[in-house]
Amino acid sequence: MQKGFNYSQDGPGNRLVYHLQGCNLHCPWCSNPESMRIANESGISTDEMFKEILISEMMFFDGGGVTFTGGEPTVQFDALKEILAKVKACGINTAIETNGTNPRLPELFELTDYLIMDFKHHSSEKLREYTGAGNETVLANLKSAAMKRNQLLLRIPLINGFNASSQDAAEFAKLLSAYMKDGFALEVLRYHEYGKDKWSQHGMQYTMQDAFVSDTQFNEFCSILKNNSIKLVRT
Ligand code: SF4
Repeated sequence: MQKGFNYSQDGPGNRLVYHLQGCNLHCPWCSNPESMRIANESGISTDEMFKEILISEMMFFDGGGVTFTGGEPTVQFDALKEILAKVKACGINTAIETNGTNPRLPELFELTDYLIMDFKHHSSEKLREYTGAGNETVLANLKSAAMKRNQLLLRIPLINGFNASSQDAAEFAKLLSAYMKDGFALEVLRYHEYGKDKWSQHGMQYTMQDAFVSDTQFNEFCSILKNNSIKLVRT
């Protein structure tokens, strides 16, 4: 488990961000491959974490608070739910960043002020081929969020050869536009290789090739989404 302060990228304001260990997916572009391995223990109890958060409260300026990310924070679901409830009960802003594949995610909606959820592919088959899981549960969680929440930030990692063609953009728009409403927004994140060296450092092979998207690809992809009334943001 790693932690640190970050401004505005993992939710509003200045935030204490916990990177919880373990992920159920294995995306070949992952920039935190060291976070994938599912550990038996997080290295810190929820009580200790709660004390740390309370001590840090004066740092949560500009609407900030605490963000739980990963890896995939819902891998440690019960501990996550417990700490979110405690923090929320103190009036501290809570956020999670999730890959959206946990069927229990709606249990966290009321405890999470700011929800960031990936939607990596419109095609379940393609997503399963690359990451090991399809998008059925992600879609179910999106539908549930559309019914129960007033805020959601969806994120698409835009990757050449995976999901970045204009045909892909049209398919994303067709699938997502029905659920986007006031308070919901989408961020398109261009492929990068910031975590590439970490793969070999952790004894794993980085297999992504020719995955960068051009400015033209990016702009065209975003235009198609915007033209389908999907609000785009950049954090
Ligand atoms: S879901 Fe996120 S943390 Fe998990 S493997 Fe994919 S990119 Fe990495």
